[in-house]
Amino acid sequence: MGSSGATKKQPVEPLPEPEVVADPTKPRQVVNYVMQRRAALRGLTRNGLRDDVCDADPMLLRTAKYHGEAAGRPCPVCRKPDLTQLTYTFSPEMGETSGRVRSTGELTTLAHEFGAFRVYVVEVCRHCYWNHLVVSYVLGDGNPRKLAGRRSSS
Ligand SMILES: [Zn+2]
Repeated sequence: MGSSGATKKQPVEPLPEPEVVADPTKPRQVVNYVMQRRAALRGLTRNGLRDDVCDADPMLLRTAKYHGEAAGRPCPVCRKPDLTQLTYTFSPEMGETSGRVRSTGELTTLAHEFGAFRVYVVEVCRHCYWNHLVVSYVLGDGNPRKLAGRRSSS
Protein backbone atom coordinates (compact mmCIF):
# COMPACT_ATOMS: atom_id res chain seq x y z
CA MET A 1 0.00 0.00 0.00
CA GLY A 2 1.09 3.48 -0.83
CA SER A 3 4.37 2.44 -2.36
CA SER A 4 5.67 4.96 -4.81
CA GLY A 5 7.09 2.41 -7.24
CA ALA A 6 4.70 3.23 -10.05
CA THR A 7 6.47 1.29 -12.77
CA LYS A 8 7.49 -1.81 -10.85
CA LYS A 9 6.27 -5.18 -12.06
CA GLN A 10 3.66 -6.52 -9.74
CA PRO A 11 3.07 -10.13 -8.77
CA VAL A 12 -0.28 -11.56 -9.78
CA GLU A 13 -2.70 -10.96 -6.93
CA PRO A 14 -5.94 -12.83 -6.37
CA LEU A 15 -9.00 -10.87 -7.41
CA PRO A 16 -11.01 -9.26 -4.63
CA GLU A 17 -14.52 -10.32 -3.65
CA PRO A 18 -17.38 -8.70 -5.56
CA GLU A 19 -18.90 -5.70 -3.83
CA VAL A 20 -22.08 -3.73 -4.30
CA VAL A 21 -21.29 -0.41 -5.89
CA ALA A 22 -24.01 2.16 -6.57
CA ASP A 23 -21.90 4.41 -8.77
CA PRO A 24 -18.70 2.96 -10.33
CA THR A 25 -17.37 6.44 -11.07
CA LYS A 26 -17.79 7.76 -7.52
CA PRO A 27 -14.48 7.63 -5.60
CA ARG A 28 -14.53 5.34 -2.56
CA GLN A 29 -11.89 4.40 0.05
CA VAL A 30 -10.52 7.88 -0.44
CA VAL A 31 -7.14 8.59 1.12
CA ASN A 32 -6.22 12.23 1.27
CA TYR A 33 -2.58 13.23 1.54
CA VAL A 34 -3.23 16.86 2.46
CA MET A 35 -1.57 16.52 5.86
CA GLN A 36 1.57 14.86 4.53
CA ARG A 37 1.77 17.42 1.76
CA ARG A 38 1.38 20.27 4.21
CA ALA A 39 4.05 18.78 6.48
CA ALA A 40 6.44 18.45 3.55
CA LEU A 41 5.84 22.06 2.60
CA ARG A 42 6.21 23.23 6.18
CA GLY A 43 9.55 21.44 6.46
CA LEU A 44 10.57 23.11 3.26
CA THR A 45 9.87 26.66 4.38
CA ARG A 46 11.37 26.05 7.80
CA ASN A 47 14.54 24.30 6.80
CA GLY A 48 14.86 25.26 3.17
CA LEU A 49 15.72 21.66 2.43
CA ARG A 50 14.48 21.70 -1.11
CA ASP A 51 16.32 18.56 -2.12
CA ASP A 52 14.23 16.49 0.27
CA VAL A 53 10.93 17.17 -1.44
CA CYS A 54 11.85 18.60 -4.82
CA ASP A 55 13.34 15.37 -6.04
CA ALA A 56 11.28 14.34 -9.07
CA ASP A 57 13.45 11.96 -11.06
CA PRO A 58 13.96 12.29 -14.85
CA MET A 59 11.47 9.51 -15.52
CA LEU A 60 8.74 11.25 -13.54
CA LEU A 61 9.51 14.58 -15.19
CA ARG A 62 9.29 12.99 -18.62
CA THR A 63 5.98 11.36 -17.77
CA ALA A 64 4.70 14.69 -16.48
CA LYS A 65 5.80 16.40 -19.67
CA TYR A 66 4.03 14.00 -22.02
CA HIS A 67 1.11 12.67 -19.99
CA GLY A 68 0.56 15.28 -17.31
CA GLU A 69 -2.60 17.30 -17.08
CA ALA A 70 -2.92 20.84 -15.77
CA ALA A 71 -3.52 20.72 -12.04
CA GLY A 72 -5.34 24.04 -12.18
CA ARG A 73 -3.35 25.51 -9.31
CA PRO A 74 0.14 26.95 -8.97
CA CYS A 75 3.10 24.99 -7.66
CA PRO A 76 3.11 25.30 -3.86
CA VAL A 77 6.89 25.71 -3.87
CA CYS A 78 7.95 27.91 -6.80
CA ARG A 79 4.48 29.36 -7.57
CA LYS A 80 4.78 28.68 -11.28
CA PRO A 81 1.22 28.42 -12.62
CA ASP A 82 1.57 25.27 -14.71
CA LEU A 83 1.65 22.58 -12.03
CA THR A 84 1.09 19.16 -13.58
CA GLN A 85 -0.95 16.23 -12.32
CA LEU A 86 -0.46 12.54 -13.11
CA THR A 87 -3.15 9.92 -12.60
CA TYR A 88 -1.91 6.36 -12.05
CA THR A 89 -4.25 3.37 -11.99
CA PHE A 90 -3.49 0.08 -10.23
CA SER A 91 -5.43 -3.16 -10.17
CA PRO A 92 -4.69 -6.89 -10.40
CA GLU A 93 -7.53 -6.92 -12.94
CA MET A 94 -5.52 -4.72 -15.25
CA GLY A 95 -2.60 -7.10 -15.57
CA GLU A 96 0.32 -5.56 -17.38
CA THR A 97 -1.48 -2.27 -17.86
CA SER A 98 -1.70 -1.82 -14.10
CA GLY A 99 0.36 1.16 -13.04
CA ARG A 100 -0.27 3.04 -16.25
CA VAL A 101 -0.84 6.78 -16.35
CA ARG A 102 -4.35 7.64 -17.55
CA SER A 103 -6.12 10.84 -18.42
CA THR A 104 -8.86 11.81 -16.00
CA GLY A 105 -11.28 11.49 -18.91
CA GLU A 106 -10.44 7.79 -19.23
CA LEU A 107 -11.34 7.06 -15.62
CA THR A 108 -15.09 7.07 -16.27
CA THR A 109 -14.69 4.42 -18.97
CA LEU A 110 -12.35 2.35 -16.84
CA ALA A 111 -14.76 2.54 -13.91
CA HIS A 112 -17.25 0.55 -16.00
CA GLU A 113 -14.64 -1.88 -17.35
CA PHE A 114 -13.18 -3.05 -14.05
CA GLY A 115 -14.49 -4.13 -10.70
CA ALA A 116 -12.04 -2.12 -8.68
CA PHE A 117 -8.85 -0.19 -9.28
CA ARG A 118 -7.00 2.30 -7.17
CA VAL A 119 -6.22 5.72 -8.55
CA TYR A 120 -3.20 7.70 -7.33
CA VAL A 121 -2.96 11.37 -8.20
CA VAL A 122 0.54 12.84 -8.04
CA GLU A 123 1.36 16.49 -8.62
CA VAL A 124 4.63 17.30 -10.32
CA CYS A 125 6.29 20.65 -10.96
CA ARG A 126 8.60 20.58 -13.96
CA HIS A 127 10.28 23.79 -12.86
CA CYS A 128 11.41 23.09 -9.29
CA TYR A 129 10.91 19.27 -9.29
CA TRP A 130 8.38 19.35 -6.46
CA ASN A 131 6.31 16.15 -6.47
CA HIS A 132 3.80 14.79 -4.01
CA LEU A 133 0.91 12.38 -3.73
CA VAL A 134 -2.32 14.34 -3.54
CA VAL A 135 -5.07 11.78 -3.16
CA SER A 136 -5.87 8.15 -3.87
CA TYR A 137 -9.20 6.41 -4.23
CA VAL A 138 -10.93 3.36 -5.68
CA LEU A 139 -13.21 3.28 -8.72
CA GLY A 140 -14.94 0.39 -10.50
CA ASP A 141 -18.30 -1.34 -10.68
CA GLY A 142 -17.62 -3.93 -7.99
CA ASN A 143 -17.51 -7.01 -10.24
CA PRO A 144 -13.90 -8.22 -10.42
CA ARG A 145 -12.88 -9.15 -13.98
CA LYS A 146 -10.80 -12.17 -14.75
CA LEU A 147 -7.61 -11.07 -16.34
CA ALA A 148 -7.91 -11.56 -20.08
CA GLY A 149 -4.86 -13.07 -21.75
CA ARG A 150 -4.07 -9.82 -23.44
CA ARG A 151 -6.03 -6.64 -23.39
CA SER A 152 -5.93 -4.55 -26.47
CA SER A 153 -5.70 -1.00 -25.26
CA SER A 154 -7.60 1.46 -27.35
ZN1 LIG B 1 7.57 24.31 -8.61
